[in-house]
Amino acid sequence: MSVNGKTAGLLKDALEGRPIEKAEAAFLLALPEDSLEAALLRAAATTINRRRFGNGGLLLGQIGVDMAPCEGDCAFCFFAKSHTTVQPALLSVEEIAARCERFARGGARGVFLMTMHRFGFEWFRDLCAELRARIPPQLEILANVGDVAASQLREFKAAGVAGAYHVCRLREGLDSCMNPAARRATIERIIDAGLAWYNLCEPVGPEHTPAELAEQLWLGVDLPCVQHGAMQRFPVPGSPLYRHGQVSLPRLGQIVAVAALATMGKEHVKSIAVNVSNLVGLFSGANAFFPEGGEPEGRPEESASPKEGFTTALWRQSSEITTADCREMLAAAGFSHLMDTAGRPTQPLSAPPREGA
Ligand code: SF4
Repeated sequence: MSVNGKTAGLLKDALEGRPIEKAEAAFLLALPEDSLEAALLRAAATTINRRRFGNGGLLLGQIGVDMAPCEGDCAFCFFAKSHTTVQPALLSVEEIAARCERFARGGARGVFLMTMHRFGFEWFRDLCAELRARIPPQLEILANVGDVAASQLREFKAAGVAGAYHVCRLREGLDSCMNPAARRATIERIIDAGLAWYNLCEPVGPEHTPAELAEQLWLGVDLPCVQHGAMQRFPVPGSPLYRHGQVSLPRLGQIVAVAALATMGKEHVKSIAVNVSNLVGLFSGANAFFPEGGEPEGRPEESASPKEGFTTALWRQSSEITTADCREMLAAAGFSHLMDTAGRPTQPLSAPPREGA
């Protein structure tokens, strides 16, 4: 069996330090996910990124603090007003602070606070300010909210927010009620406000073409994100896109690998993330996870799923992936330590004990 010459040439160039271009990304994304070439792509991204990030991994927690039927009405989303059954609910500041404590105890260095597209700006800003005074200082507050104005971003920053996740999604405006230009404008405002911009290629489904994926990925190449990567879409029963199903973990890894090779040499990119947290992603160039729960407390069944609020576990209809689970996967994959959002080592990772050892 021989390796396709174009793939071999691109990977050789990447291993020697040349980032891929957009057309090359589309070519690599068109490789069948079960091909030898796709496996080599994932392996090359692993080799490059272990070197690039000093074999360190990053954990950033997530807490859905505000849920309601959402006017964004994305055709894939659990909260879209057209098909959701959720009732409006806010998480209490005590519960959020307690979850932040558990994330910090588990080695996370940031936490995404997630709302719907429309949210109470003043409530959220004041929540961030109160949390900043209460939660461990090493845990950065990262906003994942709807489109916001420059003045609002400045207020977030003054309240202690360090960064914001914002994406111009795949098929934005077609599978959502939002305007791609408005999404991009918010991203530019985040960067202008001096907040760290967190980005992903998402929500990836089987129907997205290589050209579409490359196009969406490239916003995070053209603009200075601190994190790139990919997130798969979980099919929500009753949602219009449910029929498409979901991508495999090797396919998700292939997209992660392309994000890694496209952002090589960009000093502002401090990590490459994959969601859902999984081992294949760690062998595809990813070094960052978004744990859904912090360090477990009590019996596993007591902390298995949240009673209030939400995380991506809600989409999977599954128990939360905790900081302990994430550390175990990173250690099993050979990562040596956890790091902070700037890439500085924070604590060693030890491999989980082998059975009988
Ligand atoms: S993805 Fe975000 S904006 Fe879209 S419906 Fe869901 S919560 Fe609303």
